[in-house]
Amino acid sequence: MKQSPIGHGTFTVAALALAAFVLSSNATVSAADQPMPKSKPEESPEKTGEPAFRNIEGAAAFEDVMPDGLLKARAELAFRHLQEPYFQWNNLSRVNFEPFPGDAIGRTINGLTLLSQALHQPEPASLKEIMRRVPTVTNADGYLGPKLPESRANEDTMAGHNGYTYGLAEYALWTKDPAAKESLRRMVANLFVPARAAIAGYRETSEAKVDWHLSGGDVGQFFTTLDGMTRAYALVPSPEFKATIETAIERYRKLDLVGLSAQTHAMLSAATGILRWYEFHHRPEDLAFAEALYKQYRTLAMTETYENYNWFNRPEWTEACAVSDSFILTVNLWRLTGRANYLDDAHLILFNGLLPGQLHNGGFGTGPCVGHATGVCRTKGHNEAPFCCSMRGGEALARAIQYSYFQAKDTVVLPFYSNDTATLRFAEGACKLRQETGYPHKGRARLEVIESQVNKEKTWRFFIPSWAVRDSLEIRVNGKKAEARLADSFAEILAPLVAGTIIEVTFQQERGPRAAVQSSQAPGSYRHFDGPLLLGSSTEKAEEPLVPILDLLGPGGSGGEPYVYFPNGKTQPATNITHKTPNLADTAQVFRRDATPARLSDDVVKLLGTLKQDPTSVICAYVWSSPQQVRQVVLQWPESAAMPQPEAVVLRWLDAGKVHAAAQPGIIGNGRQWVYTLGKTPEGAAVDGFVLAAKRAEGMLEALAVPGVEVLGNIPAMPSKRESDGNKPDALNGQALPQPGSKQ
Ligand SMILES: [Zn+2]
Repeated sequence: MKQSPIGHGTFTVAALALAAFVLSSNATVSAADQPMPKSKPEESPEKTGEPAFRNIEGAAAFEDVMPDGLLKARAELAFRHLQEPYFQWNNLSRVNFEPFPGDAIGRTINGLTLLSQALHQPEPASLKEIMRRVPTVTNADGYLGPKLPESRANEDTMAGHNGYTYGLAEYALWTKDPAAKESLRRMVANLFVPARAAIAGYRETSEAKVDWHLSGGDVGQFFTTLDGMTRAYALVPSPEFKATIETAIERYRKLDLVGLSAQTHAMLSAATGILRWYEFHHRPEDLAFAEALYKQYRTLAMTETYENYNWFNRPEWTEACAVSDSFILTVNLWRLTGRANYLDDAHLILFNGLLPGQLHNGGFGTGPCVGHATGVCRTKGHNEAPFCCSMRGGEALARAIQYSYFQAKDTVVLPFYSNDTATLRFAEGACKLRQETGYPHKGRARLEVIESQVNKEKTWRFFIPSWAVRDSLEIRVNGKKAEARLADSFAEILAPLVAGTIIEVTFQQERGPRAAVQSSQAPGSYRHFDGPLLLGSSTEKAEEPLVPILDLLGPGGSGGEPYVYFPNGKTQPATNITHKTPNLADTAQVFRRDATPARLSDDVVKLLGTLKQDPTSVICAYVWSSPQQVRQVVLQWPESAAMPQPEAVVLRWLDAGKVHAAAQPGIIGNGRQWVYTLGKTPEGAAVDGFVLAAKRAEGMLEALAVPGVEVLGNIPAMPSKRESDGNKPDALNGQALPQPGSKQ
C-alpha cells in the first residue's frame, strides 16, 4: 500500500484511473509507482467524463506486504505446485486446449504472476517459457483454438479465454511486457468485441435467437469472461469494448440463473467483474447487481463450510474456483459498500472453505461437504482439479496476503489479521511495521513500527468481527489503553507511526453454537464455532473435543475426517462412514468399444437387446449378474483424444426390465469429467446394467476415445438411529463424488 496516486504529477488521467481501478484486481499501486506505458488519450476510459476514484480504500501493493505464518506457508506451497511438471508448457499447452482453449494456460499465468508478487519472488522459469511459447499456438487472429465463426458464439472457447485474458492482464501489469499487452489488445479486438451481438442473444429463445454452441452442464459459463474482460479493459480500453462489456452485463441481468441451475463459479466470477465495472464507471445498478448476485449465492448455494454448490439446485460437490471467487468478491463488496457483513463472510470463507480446502500438495479442487442443513456433513481432503482450481486457489492466496492492509489516504485499515511485515506509504514518507497475531484462533494482534519517516499521528482502523465478545475490545498503544471509536465494525484510534510504537489489539471471540448457513432448511439447526473457526470432530465420535477444520484438513493439518455440521441434536458415531464406496465397475461385465477384440459377452448382448440399442453406437456397457444400487456414474475422458458433446450421447440403464435415461451429466473443470447421477434419491437407483452410447452412430465414433468409468454405489448401511432422529445422513455426499485427478 502506498500513497494515493494523486500527487504523482507525471501520471495521465488515464493512468490515475487505471491505478485506482486496479486496486481490486492487482498490486494497485505498484502500477502507479512504476513508469507505466501511457494510455493514449483517445482510449482513456475517462474521456466519458466519469469521476476519477480518489477515495478508494486501496489494497496493499504486493511489494509492500511480506507475508509470514499461515498465509506465507500456504502461498509457498501453491507457488511450488504451480511450477511442477503438470503446469509446465509441455503438458499445460495440451491441458484443456481443445475444449477450453486458453483456460489452463491463462489460469497458470495468472496464478504464478500473482503468487510471485505476493511472495516477492522473481518470475519463475516455467512462466517465462509459457509466455515465450504461447504466441506460437495462437491462431491468425491472436486467440487460441480454431478461428470461430463471425458470431463468435462458442461458449467453450469464449469461457476458456477468460483465464487467458486475466492471466495476460495481470502479467502485463506486473512485468509491463508490451507483448502481453498487445496480445490482450488483439484478443479484445478479434474475440470479445465481435461477440457483442451474440452476447446480446445468449440463450435467447425468440425468433431472433443466436445459434450458440453452449457449454454442456455449466450454464452461464460464458459470463466468467466478465472477470477477464474487465481486467483487460483497465489496460486496453475502447468504446467498443465498453459497449461489449455492458451488453454482457445487460444480458446477464436478464437470465434466471437459479431457474437455469447456473454454475456458481461463473456467477461469482461475473459478479466480481461487474463489481469492478462499478468501480470503473460508478453505475449504481452494477453495484446493486453484484450485491444481488452474492445474496442469491449465499442464500441458495453456499454450504455449511462456506464453499459452494457447484450449480444452483445441485448440491453435488464444491469447487475451489468458486470459493476463491467468493472470497475475492466479499472483500471487495465490503470495500465498496462498507458493509461489514461481507467482511465477516470473507473471514469465514477464508478460514473454513478456502484454506482447509487446499490439498497437501498445494493444489485445490472439489470437496464433498455439500450437505444442507438437515444432517451431519462430513468433510475431508479435497480432490484436486489441477486443470482449473489449483491455479485459481493460487490467486485467492495471493489476494489474501494483499488484502491484509488497505489504505484510504491517511487511514490505515486492517480488515484481517495476519503475520507479516508491511510498508505503509504516506505523503510524508514510508513506515515499516511488523504484525504478529494469534488470529484466527485468538482475537489478538500486535503491531510494532520498525522504521518510520512519519511523525504525525494517523488513523488506524481495526476490524472487529461480529463474533467478538461485546465490550471485550481493548487497544493499547505503547502499553497505554487507547480510546477506540467503534464504527461500521471497525475500532478506530489515532496513533503515531514513529519507530518503536507498539499497538496491541485484543478481543475475545465467542465460542459455541451458531445458526447454520442454510438454517431455513432445518430450523433450529446449528454448528459450533470458535471465533471465525468452524469446529468439527477429529474423532470417531462427534461428542469428542471439537477442533477447527482449519487445523484438521489441508496442509499441516492434523488429519481426520471431521464432521463440520451438527444438527439440532446429538450426532452419531462416524464408524460406518469410514467405508470407502467400492467402484462397482470392478465387478461388472464390461464392453468397451476400444477393447481388442471388441467382443460382446452374452449378458451385454442381452442388455443391448432389452434396451433396443444399436451396438454400432455403443461407447461402453456395464452389466451385473444381480441388480446394483448405483448413485453416480463418473466418466473421465482422456485428455488427449476426441470427446463428444454431452448432448450427443446418452446413458441408459435397465432396472428390472424398465428402461431409464439419465439426465445430462454434471461437468466439472475442463469438461472431461462427467458425472451422471442416477435416480432421484441419495440411495441412487437399482441398476442391472447400463449403456453409454452415441445418439447417432454416423461420423463420431471412429476418432472417439472411451472414457474411464467409475460406478459409485450407495455406501454401506448407515446407523438406523439417525433416520429415526429425522436427520438424514447426507454424508453420502462424501462418498459419491467425482475425483478429478483419477484416471481409470
Ligand atoms: Zn475449478
